[in-house]
Amino acid sequence: MKITAIVLAAGRGSRMKSETKKQYLLLHERPVIYYSLAAFEQCRLIDEIILVCGAGEEEYCRRMLTEPYHFQKVRAIVPGGKERYHSVYEGLKAAKDCRTVLIHDGARPIVDEAMIKRLLAEVQKSGACVAGMPVKDTIKLSGEDGYVEMTLPREKLWMIQTPQVFEYALILDAYRKLMQENDRKVTITDDAMVLEAMSGKKVKLVEGSYENLKITTPEDLILAEAIIEKRDRRQP
Ligand code: C5P
Repeated sequence: MKITAIVLAAGRGSRMKSETKKQYLLLHERPVIYYSLAAFEQCRLIDEIILVCGAGEEEYCRRMLTEPYHFQKVRAIVPGGKERYHSVYEGLKAAKDCRTVLIHDGARPIVDEAMIKRLLAEVQKSGACVAGMPVKDTIKLSGEDGYVEMTLPREKLWMIQTPQVFEYALILDAYRKLMQENDRKVTITDDAMVLEAMSGKKVKLVEGSYENLKITTPEDLILAEAIIEKRDRRQP
């Protein structure tokens, strides 16, 4: 049974304040989304990639990404949905017939093979795991009045990244249940929280990397460019 990576690139990226969507901006002369596709393409443990893009952008992605860079593992390019979780659901439906699925934000170009391997080793034991790192800053909850409501215990806090990796049947079932609900009040920001809410299954935290940033605002591009340059100098 296959191991499939779903790469998400259907967001609008409004916080980037750029005419071009952030996943298509150039980073070291290649589109942001190129880097995560390349990481999964080059990892021998990954069998297939499903790319989820904006509706109507399928042909653009074919011409701009899969053809010029000769990605052999991209089996399907499917349109996403309004929110990230809608896009994930479209990716999961297209992934069919796999044993394990990695869900990855295309806006995180620094994912690497060592991280993918750590996650795949863990998912065999626990069935559900996510990349993340302990937070460095103190995190406080703010009240509606703009004053601090409470300070959270830093030693227990992790910032969560992607890839998020699951047994396929488990996460598909959780997403199906989510899609049947129509009055959800909590904002869904990752896949682990869908599993937590819909199945009660525990999700294991696996070391990601402090470099595995999500490109969200313009300064993230500068940082990512510096990290990629450093990496290329090490392994040209
Ligand atoms: O918006 P946010 O930064 O959380 O998006 C994380 C990832 O999810 C990005 O790679 C983005 O392209 C993707 N996304 C998506 N469909 C949406 C919203 C976000 O594929 N509707």
